[in-house]
Parts: sequence; C-alpha cells; structure tokens
Amino acid sequence: MRHINIPIFIPHMGCPNQCVFCNQRTISGACFFERSDAGATVERVLSTAAEDDDVEIAFFGGSFTGIERSLMTGLLDDAERYVALGRVRGIRMSTRPDYIDGEIIEILKKYTVTQVELGIQSMSDRVLGLCRRGHTAEDSRRAVAMLRDAGFEVAGQMMIGLPGSSAEDEVMTAREICSMGCSASRIYPTVVFKDTELCRMCREGEYEPLGLDEAVERSADALDVFERSGVRCLRVGLCESENLHSEETYVAGPNHSAVGELVMSRLFYKRIKKEIDALFSVEGRVLGERSGDNSVERSGERSGEKRDIEIQCPRGSVSKVVGNKKQNKCKILREYPVKRIKVVENPRLLGYNIKVICK
Ligand code: SF4
Repeated sequence: MRHINIPIFIPHMGCPNQCVFCNQRTISGACFFERSDAGATVERVLSTAAEDDDVEIAFFGGSFTGIERSLMTGLLDDAERYVALGRVRGIRMSTRPDYIDGEIIEILKKYTVTQVELGIQSMSDRVLGLCRRGHTAEDSRRAVAMLRDAGFEVAGQMMIGLPGSSAEDEVMTAREICSMGCSASRIYPTVVFKDTELCRMCREGEYEPLGLDEAVERSADALDVFERSGVRCLRVGLCESENLHSEETYVAGPNHSAVGELVMSRLFYKRIKKEIDALFSVEGRVLGERSGDNSVERSGERSGEKRDIEIQCPRGSVSKVVGNKKQNKCKILREYPVKRIKVVENPRLLGYNIKVICK
C-alpha cells in the first residue's frame, strides 16, 4: 500500500514570531491563501491516487494551530469531509510547540487527526534564544506530553547548525525528541535565506553556516539516534518547494538537492566503519597474540596483506552503502587494508543495520 500525503501549504499568515532563519516575516499580516485552494489540491491528488492508497491530508508550511481560528476549523471541516467519505484516512499538520494548549487539543480531538508535527528545532534554551524562536525547550516537552495524552502521534522537527548550536546540542535534542515520546522526526540542516536575520548575521560575521560535509556528518549523528530509538525519520533536508535552490532566495548553507541521501549514506558509512574496526581489531589482536606482537592493531596492517570484505545491507540500500560517487567504498579502501568490497542485500537486515564479513 502506497502512503500519500496531500500537502496543503499554509503560508506564514502573519506569524508574530521572529525566528532568525525564517524568510516569511516580511509578509507579516498578508494572507495569500484561499480555503478553496486546499479543496482543489485535494481533488487533484485524489484523482491520481489508486483505490488502495493510504492517503492523508497534511497541513504543512506554517503554524497550523496558530492561524486564524475560523480558517483553521474551516480547513479541518473540509478535510474531515474527505475522511467521512472514506477518500482519505486522516489529517496531519505542523505547528509550533507554544501553539498547543488545552483549547487546541479539544478542537483537534473533534477531527481525525493522526499526527501533529512540532517545530522543536532545538532542546537547548540557549540556542532557542539565539534563534529568537520565542519558545523554550519546556514548551516542547509540555506540548508533546499534551498531544500524546490526547492520543495523537507526534513528530519532532529539529535543525542542524543553528546559531550557537554544537554537535552535542543536536545529539541531545535528538535524544530528547525520542525520550519525550515522539514517534517520528525530521532533520533540517540550517540554510540561510535572503531577507532573514540570519542573512544579516552571516554578512556581519555573527554566524557561519555549516559546510555541506559537516552538516551531513551532524545530521547523520542525529539520524543515528532516531534510528536506534525506533523513531522514524520522515525526511532530512528541505524539499524543492521550500526555495532551496532558487537564486532569488538562497544565500548560504548546506545546499544539495540530495542532502537526505548523503546523510543516509554517511550513517551507513559510520556503521560500516564501526563493524570493520571491531572485526579487524579482533583479528589483529589474535594475530598479535600468536606472534607475540601486541602492537598489531588491525588485521593485515602487520603483514601488508589485504582482505576482501562483503558488506551485507538491507534491501534497497546498496547505492547508499556504496555512497554518492562510490565515496563510502573509496574511503574504506583508503583507510583499511581491504582489497575488494562486495555489497549485497540481506533481506533479514532492516533500517541501517549492516553486517561485514571478512573473506
Ligand atoms: S519559522 Fe518562526 S517566524 Fe517563521 S513562520 Fe515559523 S514560527 Fe513564524
């Protein structure tokens, strides 16, 4: 069964906040959104969906529970009609943690809301402050708890490379997203857009965006946390519709059309490296003990002998294991006494689990 989200992008709609990375503040007070547009989008997507597709209507792009109340409930009423007709299974939305309260929970409970995505961004109050995010980590904890108590699934969005944020802050944020009870996540490396405070900070040397490689490395560490906790990562990186590649809006930051693929591939590399290190160090120790040379750290290094290895990976993961332009394979060949690498699928492996066998 195919899962389809019908995305209805709700624009800024006069958001009173001033997040430094947001390029929508300039349209504050303006409304470029017609309720009827949503219906047209739903009809268009449904006309291409198969009978057994699992379809949901997703209100993304803004703080859905912060928009004008009658528009919000009107959109929910419209979406719920499709649910009642059996044409879609449920409704999901994204919003800010501080736009969740008892009243909003009561409204959402009247509809078939399956998941609420929260823009948590960081669980460091220092980082949230520097980003002028306008809410605290405690707001996120409270919002997740309220949503979960009401029976909703929660997805936590986090950002990589925000002002003042370290790799440790990001791993801590990913861990908290898991421990708070989120069942899904999204990871967004920070990109600098025109007409943002971050753009000014960048120009005046107050902020330096991450390079692509560091953003990929840090995103892979966050993804690793989610993967190990069984929290599904729905996406890494902004999508095309978020103006990532438009020369009119993009200024600086990790800009790659397949950043998600790069991050997944990096996580595989980290896992493979760990396995090879363990494997070679055990073999090296055995060889060292046999020869009385305890300085031998890795098999093959002493004798110069190179080994063939087989990397087994989950179905559909071969290209990510090999890496973009064979990057992972080349790195392993450079860093280890390995002659040949064979990558094969093992249907018993799931997620980012891999198995390395020395031939
Ligand atoms: S990113 Fe911040 S400023 Fe921009 S719409 Fe969202 S809450 Fe408002």
